[in-house]
Amino acid sequence: MNATIITIGDELLIGQTIDTNSAFIARQFNKIGVSIRQRMAIADDASEIVRWLEFGLKESDIIVFTGGLGPTKDDITKKTFAKYFGVGMKRDEETYKHVKHIFESRNRPFLEINEQQAEIPANGEVLFNNMGTAPGMWFEIDGKIVVSLPGVPFEMEFLMTERVIPKIFAKQYATPLYHRHIQTASMGESFLATKIEAIENELPSTVKLAYLPSTFRVNLRLSGHENDKALIDRYFEKINDTLSDYIYGYTEQSVFEHLFHKLKQKNATISFAESCTGGYLANAITEFSGASDIFKGSYVVYSDAWKAQILGVDPQIIEKHSVYSPECVTDMHRALLEKSGADFAIATSGIVEPTVHSKKVEAFIAVGNKERVLVKKIDLIYNRSKNKEAIAISACFYLLKEFFLE
Ligand code: AMP
Ligand code: MG
Repeated sequence: MNATIITIGDELLIGQTIDTNSAFIARQFNKIGVSIRQRMAIADDASEIVRWLEFGLKESDIIVFTGGLGPTKDDITKKTFAKYFGVGMKRDEETYKHVKHIFESRNRPFLEINEQQAEIPANGEVLFNNMGTAPGMWFEIDGKIVVSLPGVPFEMEFLMTERVIPKIFAKQYATPLYHRHIQTASMGESFLATKIEAIENELPSTVKLAYLPSTFRVNLRLSGHENDKALIDRYFEKINDTLSDYIYGYTEQSVFEHLFHKLKQKNATISFAESCTGGYLANAITEFSGASDIFKGSYVVYSDAWKAQILGVDPQIIEKHSVYSPECVTDMHRALLEKSGADFAIATSGIVEPTVHSKKVEAFIAVGNKERVLVKKIDLIYNRSKNKEAIAISACFYLLKEFFLE
C-alpha cells in the first residue's frame, strides 16, 4: 500500500507555519509498511484541492489531507470534497452532541457555523475527534481511500493513531511491521557497514536494514513483516555478535537514558566534572524522573583556576601537561571522586572548535570509579555544539561499556 500526504494551508506555503503534520503522518505510515509516494503543501484553494486530490487518486492507494476543516470561510476542504464527489452534506449526531457540549461547557454561544462542524459529505464516514470540534473523514472511492484530518497537530495526531491506523489494520490494508534496534556509538556508519558486509549481503529482500546515524551514534534497525520475525531475530543475533564492541543497547533510548537505568538498577551514584561539556552532562542526566536517586551533582570547572581551586586538581599537573591532557582529566576524576563521594565519576576537558592556538579539535574524558579509571581521547568532527554533545555521549558510552555491560 502507498500513500500521498497533502497538507492544506496558505500559512504552510509561505513558511509561516512549519508543516510538521506530514512528517508525523509519514512516520506513522512508515511504521506499518505503507510507503510514501509524496508529501506536499498546497494553498487554501478549491481548484488546488481538487487538482491534487485527482493526482493522489491516480498515484496512490491512500490520500491523506490535513487542514481546512475549521468553521471559518477560509476552511473549504469539506465543501470542496462534497462538490467533487457530487454529494450533499449529512449531519453526524454523535459529533453534533460533542460539539454542542464543548461550547456549552465553556459558556460560549453555539452558533450556526459551529453546527456545521458536525456535517460531512454524505458519502463519508466520520472519524470521531475526541480532541476537538472538527471530525476527521474517511472516504472510499473506487478502491482508493481518501482521509481528511484537521490541521491542529494534536487533533491530527490523535485521529491518525487512534482512528486511521486501526482502521487500516481492521480492513487489512496493511499488517504491523516487526523492528529490532541495535544502538551503537563510537564508530561511523561506513565502518559498521564494512564490518557486517557479509551479513548484509545475505539479507533476503523482505528484511530491511537501515542505518540511522546521529551525533557519535548509529542506530541499526532491522525491519520486516511479523511473519518474518524468526528470520529477523536470526540476523539481529548475527549483527549483535559482530558489532558487540560498539553496542550499548537495543531500545530507542539515548545513551544517557541507558546509563540512568543501569545506575538505578545498581543503586549507584554518579557525579561529573565538566570543563568542555559546560554542564551538558548534568542537563542530560536530569532529564529523567528519579535522577536525584543517582545523580550527586556536577562541577562545571571551565577555567584553569576553578579546576584547581574549586575541584582540587593539582596545579602542577595543569602546568606540566596543560588542561587538555589525559593527565589533567585523570586528576579531575580523582579529585571529583574524593569531593563528591559518588560511586562513579566522569571528567571532561578539551577543545570543541579550532582556535588561533590550536587546530586540533579533541577532548579527553576520564570515566570510572575508585578501582579503575578509563581515559580516552575523542577526536571531534562536528561544530561546537555537536562536539559538546559528542563528548557527553562518548563519556557515557565508555562508562556504560566498561562498567555496566558484559
Ligand atoms: P486548519 O485545520 O487549517 O484550520 O488548521 C488549524 C491550525 O493548525 C493552523 O492555524 C496551523 O497553526 C496548524 N496547522 C495546520 N496545518 C499544519 C501542518 N501541516 N503542520 C503543522 N501545523 C499545522
Ligand atoms: Mg487552515
